[in-house]
Amino acid sequence: MSEIENTDLQAYRQSAADWLAQHAPDFSGPARHQLPFEQSLALARRWQALKYDAGYAGITLPVEYGGAGRTELEKIIFCEEEMKYDLPLAYFSISLSNPLPIFLRHAREDYRAALARPALRGDQIWCQLFSEPAAGTDLAALRLKAERKDDGWLLNGQKVWTSWAQISDWGVVLARSDPSVPKHAGLTYFFLDMKSPGITVRPIRRLVNEPDLNEVFFDNVFVPDSQRLGEVGAGFKVAVETLMIERYAVTDESGYGPTLDAFVEVARGAKINGQPALADGEVRNVIAQAFIERQGLRSIHARAIGALAAGNTPGPEGAIRKLLLGRTRQRLGAMALDLAGADGVRFDPEASQTTDFARSWMDPGLRIAGGTDEVLVNTLAERILGLPQDYRPDKGLPFNQS
Ligand SMILES: Cc1cc2nc3c(=O)[nH]c(=O)nc-3n(C[C@H](O)[C@H](O)[C@H](O)COP(=O)(O)OP(=O)(O)OC[C@H]3O[C@@H](n4cnc5c(N)ncnc54)[C@H](O)[C@@H]3O)c2cc1C
Repeated sequence: MSEIENTDLQAYRQSAADWLAQHAPDFSGPARHQLPFEQSLALARRWQALKYDAGYAGITLPVEYGGAGRTELEKIIFCEEEMKYDLPLAYFSISLSNPLPIFLRHAREDYRAALARPALRGDQIWCQLFSEPAAGTDLAALRLKAERKDDGWLLNGQKVWTSWAQISDWGVVLARSDPSVPKHAGLTYFFLDMKSPGITVRPIRRLVNEPDLNEVFFDNVFVPDSQRLGEVGAGFKVAVETLMIERYAVTDESGYGPTLDAFVEVARGAKINGQPALADGEVRNVIAQAFIERQGLRSIHARAIGALAAGNTPGPEGAIRKLLLGRTRQRLGAMALDLAGADGVRFDPEASQTTDFARSWMDPGLRIAGGTDEVLVNTLAERILGLPQDYRPDKGLPFNQS
């Protein structure tokens, strides 16, 4: 993005890079390896607190709540520099991206004053309780029940795939407050204390052993009405706003899995039938395809950054980036494992997602969370190609009659 960076942005990048070079090595790479969960989380909290003290936590959030009050571009610049290190960022990835900013937009002032800084420092963590067993892509189909009770609401039902619920202090939750109206109109949005009586969090074991996902059960969980975010029945609007907050994620290919350059290095060291793998037609084809995609993605990224610099919102091109990054990552991973032969079946639980092909290939999370591949294809079809909308048989029907 350097071609659109003015001198102020270049100076910001330089000072961020200098600060990271000074501090990040103590928290990244070997400093993180083999740590038990609690120690890993403690290390991550120390890193987050250091960032907070230096003005790098909540870069775009208001200064009065502990943010840095800077622009989207400065946030992207800092993330690009930070992603060069293998840092423990995952525990706060949901907390600070969506729940905290939406809470700051809609919550009462006394709540904001009390809860923003602990979240930004990493002392407290927030989760996002949206998905349910029968509501993922079709989020408005959710069933968690919210019933009026005195000066608040009683929540009953279940959420699933809740990242980091087991270490969360607070959560934002979307619930059905009126089943007699069409599905999008009957939802209400709250924030709640994750230690409230009646909440049970159960871990979901993942193939790659990542301890992030959970089921969350609600058994008569009381939430005061003062913790409602937005109007009664307007929860879907607040949910969409929540999902739109990360207007344009930093999606340089290096943040999600091993890079094309890393794959070329693997291929350079491998042989197929005694011949260099780099001479093999299929390997060359995969490399060429990934290279072409990378060039295309870089220009889409540059265009989105240009839009942000001009004060505009990037369009649906983010969907192209996520779709291609997810697919390419798995294609390169599959071929890297093929090239490794029998060694390819070895799984190192300590390996990093961003540098290890086996781990990266076994985790399709990027192709599901934040919009599955198929749904992104629908978005591109409807919003870029202008094709007719997906079939919606329950449109306009009361939820309890659909
Ligand atoms: C790593 C990870 C972290 C997550 N963290 C959170 C979290 O913190 N909080 C939270 O609330 N959720 C979280 N999720 C859940 C995530 O948002 C959902 O998994 C996602 O929205 C997809 O929903 P689903 O799993 O119910 O699949 P479904 O929506 O049931 O989809 C199943 C399949 O049907 C396809 N499909 C669905 N609708 C269509 C359509 N209209 N056209 C074509 N194909 C379609 C999908 O592409 C998919 O292949 C997380 C998921 C993952 C993988």
